[in-house]
Formats: sequence, structure tokens, C-alpha cells
Amino acid sequence: MRLSHEILTLRTKHPFTISRGGASEWRVVWVRVTDDDGVEGWGEAAPSKFYGETVESVAGALALFSPLVEAADPWSTESIESELNRVIRFNGSAKTAVSAALHDLAGKRLGIPLYKLWGLDPARAPLSSFTIGIGSENEVRRKVAEAEPYPVLKVKLGSDHDEAIIRTVRDAAPDKLLRVDANAAWSAKYALEMIELLAECDVEYVEQPLPAHDLEGMRFVRDRSPLPIFADESCVLASDIPKLVGVVDGINIKLAKCGGLHEAMKMISVAHAHGMLVMMGCMIETSLGIAAAAHMAPLLDYADLDGAALLANDPFIGPSIEGGVIAIPSGPGLGVRRS
Ligand code: MG
Repeated sequence: MRLSHEILTLRTKHPFTISRGGASEWRVVWVRVTDDDGVEGWGEAAPSKFYGETVESVAGALALFSPLVEAADPWSTESIESELNRVIRFNGSAKTAVSAALHDLAGKRLGIPLYKLWGLDPARAPLSSFTIGIGSENEVRRKVAEAEPYPVLKVKLGSDHDEAIIRTVRDAAPDKLLRVDANAAWSAKYALEMIELLAECDVEYVEQPLPAHDLEGMRFVRDRSPLPIFADESCVLASDIPKLVGVVDGINIKLAKCGGLHEAMKMISVAHAHGMLVMMGCMIETSLGIAAAAHMAPLLDYADLDGAALLANDPFIGPSIEGGVIAIPSGPGLGVRRS
């Protein structure tokens, strides 16, 4: 088995901004494994500096993984994923790209889509939200108008005008389900003030109000919050979940954080076993990256898989989220092709 990669440059339709900043141009890594018969499996690394990765670090990690992948049995996806964790710590998006490519290859060899390999019913996937990034009131109003086909909106807060943003969105979309993501930007005191307003605006839940390390603060807020609280930046791996029990109501899994499809499956099981809600999110990534998450969407309570829907130049055709409905590809493996 051979491992190869290519760096792709993506552009979002609008500059995409969250509490930590924004950009219009994003780089991801298209990873391919090719077996001895020439069959290819594809995966994507969508590195995030916040989690210590860049496309350059992904390329470096792939070089470290290459001898291991070359010598491995392609069917042993679980043990390869474990071995990658022994080669290097962290580097979640690089590991996930290899894991996704191996799963894609296995599905292609068997001639079935991944969701079938996992025994999942695609009709059980929840609706995906569509994200409204931080912007001026006029920009936010325009984005909400463009998001008209999507029944669920995820609103990014953590700006210097959060109240104006949420009131603008609620005014422009009076009947939609709204969720809020503060991306770790708030203090506990400010979070509780904001959550009062969010409850008044009929928001469904709040993601990561406080910094990732502040679990006691998150517990304090959750104990006093009328709305459910989700952890994203505080929850990277399955081993983070036990310490979040009683601290938050749910977790947001991302393949680019957790380092593989087996790890993501483990996170879903561990969280559900603790009575926690599970959502799955994404980075700005192509339909290839989104596909790996979409195939496990039937196991989720909530989904935010809009990364490719925000792009102006998606190099792949894969799952669509038109109208918020996650249409999981039915082709073999991830079911993704070049556009
Ligand atoms: Mg988030």
C-alpha cells in the first residue's frame, strides 16, 4: 500500500469568521492510499492551527506514517489507527485523513458504502445546521437570507456585538431552529447574561461558552443555564469525555480533532453511555472530508456538516446538505468523486 498526498486551496463564498478570527482562503490535504491492485482510498486532512496543525505539519506527519502504512494489512483499519497514535501524539487531522482513506479503500474493495459496512440506516441522519459566521448586522442579515433553504442555523458569537447579531438573526429567521457557538470566547458571568438573552430568543443550545480548559467554569454555567451546554474545544478525544460528565450536556465531535473514524465511533458510544448528547461538526473542508462524517451521521443527535456547503470551489462531489438533509452517498466506500 502506498500513501500519497496533494495540498488543495479552498475559497469560502464569504470570509468565514469566528471568535478567533477569519479567512477566505483555506488549505487542506487530499490523502490517497493505493493498494497493490491499484485501488485508491481517499481521505482529507483539514488542519486547524488552534489544534496545532498546518498543511505543512500534516505533510510531515504523513511522511512519518508512510512506512507503517506501506507495511500494513489494508483491512486492519483499527490497528493502523492505534499504531498512528504510537508514531506521534496529536495531529488529529493527519491521522483522520489516513483512517478515512483506509475506510474508503475497504468499502471500495467490498463494493458497499461505509454506512452499510457499519450497519447504519441513512434515513436516521439528523438535519445538518448551516453556519452563520460573525459579521456586521448587514452582513449577518444577508447571510441569513442566503441560508433560506436551511431550517437550522448555527450562529457564531464571541464578537463585540453578540446581542445585535442574535437579535438580527432571530428577526430575519423568526421560525428557524437556532443554535449558538461562542467558540470559547466568554467569561462565566457574561455567558450567563448572554444565555438569558439566547433563551429569550428561543435558541436550542449553546456550544463552548468558555475556554477549553475551564471545566469548572463550564460546570458553573451549566448548573445555572436554562439551555443545554455542549463542549467542542474541551472535547478532542474519547478520553476527554469522562471528565465532562456533569460539566456539559453534550459534545461536538470533529474528525479533524479526534484522529480517526474508529476514535469518532468510540466517542459516540462513550458519550451516549454517559447519557450525553452527541453532535458532529466539521472544519472548512471539502465534500471528501464531510463524507467521512456523513456516513456516521445516523448515529448522531445533531449534525453541523456544512463545511463544504460554505465553499466557492469544492473539488469533490460527495454528500449534499440541501435543505439541511444529509444525503449520504450510496457509492462504494465514501462514495466521493472529483467534480
Ligand atoms: Mg464549535
